[in-house]
Amino acid sequence: MKRVLVSGGAGYIGSHVTVELINAGYDVVVADNMSNCDLTCFEGVKKITGRDDIPFIEMDCCDDAAVADLFSKYRIDAVIHFAAFKAVGESVAEPVKYYRNNLDSFLNILEAAKTHGGCNVLFSSSATVYGETDKLPVTEESPRQPATSPYGNTKQICEDILRDVVKAAAGYDAMEPGADRKGVVKGIALRYFNPIGAHPSALIGELPRGVPNNLVPYITQTAIGKRECLSIFGNDYPTPDGTCLRDYIDVVDLAKAHVAAVGRMLDGKMEESYEIFNIGTGRPVSVLELVNAFEKVNGLKLNYRFAPRRAGDTTAIWADPMRANRELGWKAERTLEETLASAWAWEKHIAGK
Ligand code: UDP
Repeated sequence: MKRVLVSGGAGYIGSHVTVELINAGYDVVVADNMSNCDLTCFEGVKKITGRDDIPFIEMDCCDDAAVADLFSKYRIDAVIHFAAFKAVGESVAEPVKYYRNNLDSFLNILEAAKTHGGCNVLFSSSATVYGETDKLPVTEESPRQPATSPYGNTKQICEDILRDVVKAAAGYDAMEPGADRKGVVKGIALRYFNPIGAHPSALIGELPRGVPNNLVPYITQTAIGKRECLSIFGNDYPTPDGTCLRDYIDVVDLAKAHVAAVGRMLDGKMEESYEIFNIGTGRPVSVLELVNAFEKVNGLKLNYRFAPRRAGDTTAIWADPMRANRELGWKAERTLEETLASAWAWEKHIAGK
């Protein structure tokens, strides 16, 4: 059985990916330093899968000795690397913390992968690399824009690091048959659009620390009474209803894209040694449409008001997901309504209601 290391596997996306990997028959090792989560989601993963034996290693991927140790202990066939900080605003205030953490952890993983004979590495990237563009939807060929935050920059830099590491390893292809190919790394970067929602069991979901930055957790916290009022940032954008357009991708659909990508790597189906895929629905949804859909599907009224634009927000971005649809045989399936109902069920679950 193939084994996948999920770094940052106790977090929001990592926990959903762990569930889908186990459902697909993989052995999974979870590593997490618990810097932005507690054991809630990992316990949820165990309940959903009925598996009490998933190895969980509390460790920081910035600790090179700990990463090397992990690779010595387990034969790892593929790594899905989530372990990174992700708060855009905080990254602007504390760039060194972001560069140190997000780059060191990835470099340690890549180094250990190489030392232990190479493996397949899937990097969790973001649509943030596309920046502001009016050529929509974006394809993987759309040019990346200079990052507007250190967080966004770490996504671009890590994509480039993975590309270069793969390129170096590709030199092995020219070697004589039978030569030592130790260290070959193949890589996939998945560029996520806006992941939202929770597992249908409501046993795992997003657990923001403090005031949520993202739209859907802010909505669910407002609906449950933790926040007084949602501010919709800007209603004077050049969009049909004046609010920003995004491509909201269900977290379970997103998790399934990881399983498809890992399968592609492990089954030797990659066309290039480094590949990039957009993971989105291809459907633009405005903030106002999302709020209305949330109210309708959950039968409640949300307290919201229009507020000034938020600095750094892109007017509109959505994916052309055709490459992922075609090459990974993957497609987003859950409706926006199902996803928003799952987000609300999760919020109620964590509130004990
Ligand atoms: N948004 C909002 N109020 C909030 C949080 C977000 O109006 O409290 C809007 C934000 O301006 C953007 C969209 O919701 O248009 C998605 O924002 P989010 O932070 O979830 O993701 P982003 O696309 O910025 O990565």
